[in-house]
Amino acid sequence: MRRKRVAGNWKMNKDHREGAALAREILEGLAKEPVSCEVILLPPFTTLPAVLQVLAGSAVSVGGQDLFYEDEGAFTGEVSGSMLKSLGCAYVLVGHSERRHVIGEGGEILAKKLRAALRNGLAPIYCVGELIEERESGRAEAVVERQLADALHGLSTSEIGRVVIAYEPVWAIGTGKTATPDDASSMHAFIHAALERIVEPAAAREMPILYGGSVKPDNAAALLSRDGIDGFLVGGASLKAPSFLAVMPR
Ligand code: PEP
Repeated sequence: MRRKRVAGNWKMNKDHREGAALAREILEGLAKEPVSCEVILLPPFTTLPAVLQVLAGSAVSVGGQDLFYEDEGAFTGEVSGSMLKSLGCAYVLVGHSERRHVIGEGGEILAKKLRAALRNGLAPIYCVGELIEERESGRAEAVVERQLADALHGLSTSEIGRVVIAYEPVWAIGTGKTATPDDASSMHAFIHAALERIVEPAAAREMPILYGGSVKPDNAAALLSRDGIDGFLVGGASLKAPSFLAVMPR
């Protein structure tokens, strides 16, 4: 069985002081009531050092929310995978829907970012998901398969072994609307089938797929009980320790 992971995407929230306080509160909560999943925090870049310091020696992992596809050079404002790795990050988000649809990143750039993450020893959490109009016009599966193929095609089996997928229907992110457990688990099954067409099938079957989109304490258990849902990528509910801790499996 694939181990469960619960990742908290803080987006552009929490400065370094607030982030350290939240990380401390999460650690205290985990010490009181252990969980049966890997916990991953994804703070903004400037908050990463403070959070890493609080979490040093703990089992909680840390990652960036994005990276640039080159490792160094004249790329004003960008942050590289090697910088994240040398700070102590283990993960990095690639292709979050806000990067795709607010910032405008497409398949070619995301494929390069995914490779930059792997090259630098980071585990990419590669996000895929359809817009509401794509779902309503029956194109959700085709869109998700295209997003998977864009970034994963041509990776080696050992590289694939380090990639985590996050299925996040865009219409469910930050909206309070969640995919039903049936919808989420049927898309996760589709993603596994699509992955077997794109990468080596045995490696595809081992790839973890997280669900994201308005995961909250009152819907988490039902989602997590479904086959093929290997954990969560959580936005809003990860900004407060009690709600973040409450979506984790015990
Ligand atoms: C996200 O940021 O990836 C996300 C799923 O946000 P929310 O949980 O707030 O919908």
